[in-house]
Amino acid sequence: MNAKEKVIVITGAASGIGRATARKFASEGAKVVVADLNEAGGMETVDLIKKAGGEAAYIKTDVANVQDVEKAVNFAVEIYGSIDIMFNNAGIGGRAPLLEHDPEIYDRVVKVNQYGVYYGILAAARKMKDLGIQGVIVNNGSTFGFLASNRGIIGYHTSKAAVKMMTQCAALELAPYGIRVVGIAPGYVDTPISKRPKDRATGKHMRNELIQPEAIADAVYLLCQDAANVINGSTVMLDDGYAVFK
Ligand code: NAD
Repeated sequence: MNAKEKVIVITGAASGIGRATARKFASEGAKVVVADLNEAGGMETVDLIKKAGGEAAYIKTDVANVQDVEKAVNFAVEIYGSIDIMFNNAGIGGRAPLLEHDPEIYDRVVKVNQYGVYYGILAAARKMKDLGIQGVIVNNGSTFGFLASNRGIIGYHTSKAAVKMMTQCAALELAPYGIRVVGIAPGYVDTPISKRPKDRATGKHMRNELIQPEAIADAVYLLCQDAANVINGSTVMLDDGYAVFK
């Protein structure tokens, strides 16, 4: 893949992993659409990219709203002429103990983390098919889609498990069009969503360090290369061994 010719839409790119990935792709020459609910953060990501000589544009997007996600994909095609990569990354936590759960919290978490990814797959795949683009869709899951390791975030765990299966199903259905779908499952990454005290989080990883968002961005970049073409339908653990050494 020559990133210079690629257009990527990244949801949740106003912060954390999304912002780091936006900066990574832009630094390699890709054109980046920053799609996020947070306008100030989204504009800041665009500014950071432009100051470094890259190309990016912001569109206000609530991934829980199907029309918003379609608009973000259409926007990429309108201003940059393509959509080659879709990174369905936006996510929220929604912490509350199960017995004190307000179903509205569960609803919102599933709407953003699960439906948001589903809408992103739909919008990007339809556009890629229409334009004859053999693109890549990357879905951000979590190690918590595999491990029930944290109390008080049942909605997060279940929505991330759904992302893993959606990745498998979408890869199967989109393979005839040459569209590849890959999941990632990060461990504890040093971003605002990660509320666990840093010293407790670092102990979860083999090398006892919190994962930096730039490390996830580098891995997403690798997964989008033609050299990673054989990876399809899998969710790749980006967790410094968290899920394999219990
Ligand atoms: P973050 O809080 O820094 O970034 C999340 C971004 O998503 C923010 O910019 C926020 O404005 C945006 N967002 C939230 N709701 C949205 C909505 N409805 N529509 C559009 N944008 C919305 O956190 P992060 O760690 O960078 O999280 C990115 C993704 O990585 C999430 O899906 C998260 O679940 C996943 N993840 C994070 C970790 C971690 O430890 N940080 C681990 C595994 C997976």
